[in-house]
Amino acid sequence: MLPPGASAGPGRPSPPAAPGERLRGRDMAGGTGTAPQRLPPGEQDQEAEPEGGSRRWGAQHAGARELAELYSPGKRLQEWISVILCFSLICFNFYNLLFYLRLEHTPSIIVGIFAGVITADFLSGLFHWGADTWGSVELPIVGKAFIRPFREHHIDPTAITRHDFIETNGDNCFMTLVPLANMAYKFVSFSPEALYETCPWECYIFALIIFITMTNQIHKWSHTYFGLPRWVIFLQDWHIILPRKHHRIHHVSPHETYFCITTGWLNYPLEKIGFWRCLENIIQGLTGEKPRADDMKWAQKIK
Ligand SMILES: [Zn+2]
Ligand SMILES: [Zn+2]
Repeated sequence: MLPPGASAGPGRPSPPAAPGERLRGRDMAGGTGTAPQRLPPGEQDQEAEPEGGSRRWGAQHAGARELAELYSPGKRLQEWISVILCFSLICFNFYNLLFYLRLEHTPSIIVGIFAGVITADFLSGLFHWGADTWGSVELPIVGKAFIRPFREHHIDPTAITRHDFIETNGDNCFMTLVPLANMAYKFVSFSPEALYETCPWECYIFALIIFITMTNQIHKWSHTYFGLPRWVIFLQDWHIILPRKHHRIHHVSPHETYFCITTGWLNYPLEKIGFWRCLENIIQGLTGEKPRADDMKWAQKIK
């Protein structure tokens, strides 16, 4: 049973049960006598072999195994360096930002933080949509480094819950390095007067950076059904971060909606106005490329 506050979004039905979805008793997690727990499609342990002998999801899916093997030591090193640099710069910038905060800035800082979170949610959707819908794992450099994890995630959604902190957050830390370095440069080179002036704007940028950095951790929590800290469940239940039930809508094949994975606040309005479909039609019209062709190819890979 999912938490009461984890809504699927206003007016939006819960995702349909996919073939193979089943009820799972608490007994399997060690307890007895509690209500059965329903795990979403792709979140199960995959003990049962589906008809035909091929697995539709999970770590044993042939495509998932091949994609997991493409995670290289070089990629791992890039993630370690990104995480260390990113968190060092976050600490440096946070300390400096606190130094220039003034009480009279309070209203604009609140607006700035809220706008930063909304912008991060939109960018998470745009980036996720781009990687899911276009390009291929065969593309030089970006294919293996940045598109591969998205393909793996659709055919083995629980793999993310087995990734450690570095693998989960490395790519997002890498993406925020340039804006973080730019902010640090301003703190060491601008005059104090200029920094007081721009403080609310820097708060917007900082909130945006923090939420982009945290996006994949938040996404990992949205796939974690056991052992989450209480405060994370609280944030999910109040829809301050991406709730589990909400994100399940994206994981229904063919993965064509609900791309925003930071807070998920923009998913319903963007779906309502047909935002992603409209973008896809424009790009398909211009390039002739079919949306999600590479994603489908990996999903169908059974040998
Ligand atoms: Zn996706
Ligand atoms: Zn997901």
